[in-house]
Amino acid sequence: MFKNKLMFSLLLLLLLTAVACGGTAESSSTEPTADEVAAADGSGVYADGAFKIVATTTQANDIAQILTEGVNNVEITPLMGAGVDPHLYQPTESDIAAMNEADMVIYSGLFLEGQFDTVFAALREQGVLIHAMSDPVKQGGFTIGGFELSDELVDVDDPHFWFDPRNWELTVTDLGEALAEIDPANSDTYTANATAYAAMMTPLYEWANQGLRSVPEGQRYLVTSHDAFQYFGAAFGWQMEAIQGLSTEDEAGVGDIQGTVDFIIGNQIPVVFVESSIPPDTIEAVIEAVEAEGGSVRIGVREMYSDAMGEPGTFAGTYAGMLASNAYTVLQSYQCAGVDVTIPEWPADLTPTPPEALLNVDCGE
Ligand SMILES: [Zn+2]
Repeated sequence: MFKNKLMFSLLLLLLLTAVACGGTAESSSTEPTADEVAAADGSGVYADGAFKIVATTTQANDIAQILTEGVNNVEITPLMGAGVDPHLYQPTESDIAAMNEADMVIYSGLFLEGQFDTVFAALREQGVLIHAMSDPVKQGGFTIGGFELSDELVDVDDPHFWFDPRNWELTVTDLGEALAEIDPANSDTYTANATAYAAMMTPLYEWANQGLRSVPEGQRYLVTSHDAFQYFGAAFGWQMEAIQGLSTEDEAGVGDIQGTVDFIIGNQIPVVFVESSIPPDTIEAVIEAVEAEGGSVRIGVREMYSDAMGEPGTFAGTYAGMLASNAYTVLQSYQCAGVDVTIPEWPADLTPTPPEALLNVDCGE
């Protein structure tokens, strides 16, 4: 009795296998693939009509736009605009609603988005793919560690990893792979976009490196309001000094300002920089204090982009433009202060092209 039942099961299994194999062979020759069907009939990420992506920071929005170019029915919702500080940004009700609807959330990670942890935990439970852009940089061992972000977050990695284009190359490739996996019907487009964009990072790095290393080594100090430029400094051979630490969550105190003033006077630093996402008051307080002690220090020829990029549709609203704009700002500011620098020609094959207003600077005197 038992034996017959087993035989029957085996026969049934063989029969089912044969049917399944026949079906596969047929579809591979004449019918669309499963991926093509998924995209056309609205399954997978297209189940509700569109592949919905939420991007937290301006960098996340930029990379999501670039890598999904040419794919239909992708909806990208950016949360933070230009000039917004991601350390302090609280997700709004509409942000949370957008993330609840999303198939994928792209964020920076390493605690940059300091107020998102609870929301992300809830979204993960719902099965939303939460993609950290910093993951491949961390996994590759390229993060800079040993920092303190808050009283609770001690000995953590510096979250501002994107300031080394070699790190951004890893991020681009990794996101391309993640998109290809979640939306396999369009994997070829994501892979081609990611490959082309990642290839731009080497010429971008080389251009910035050539310019920034033209400043004499003993004069390469970048003084800013918060400590966003460690990776920038490590990539291009500059020393960093910031009034505030890695995060902007704690306010700068009198001691922080005096420490920066002493550093500027001690190292005869000619320029300090304001960041687009941080109010200028602490940098202004430093300049006043340096002058009160008989020193002098200039303010950069324009703002630096630290945690937020420029307005969408502008040169600095793109990753490459943001990085280049920062390099131009540093080099031109040092040039205005009388330091001998070389600003290299912008590589012809690198896009976008810097606008004239960025190339021609008025030193203001
Ligand atoms: Zn920051």
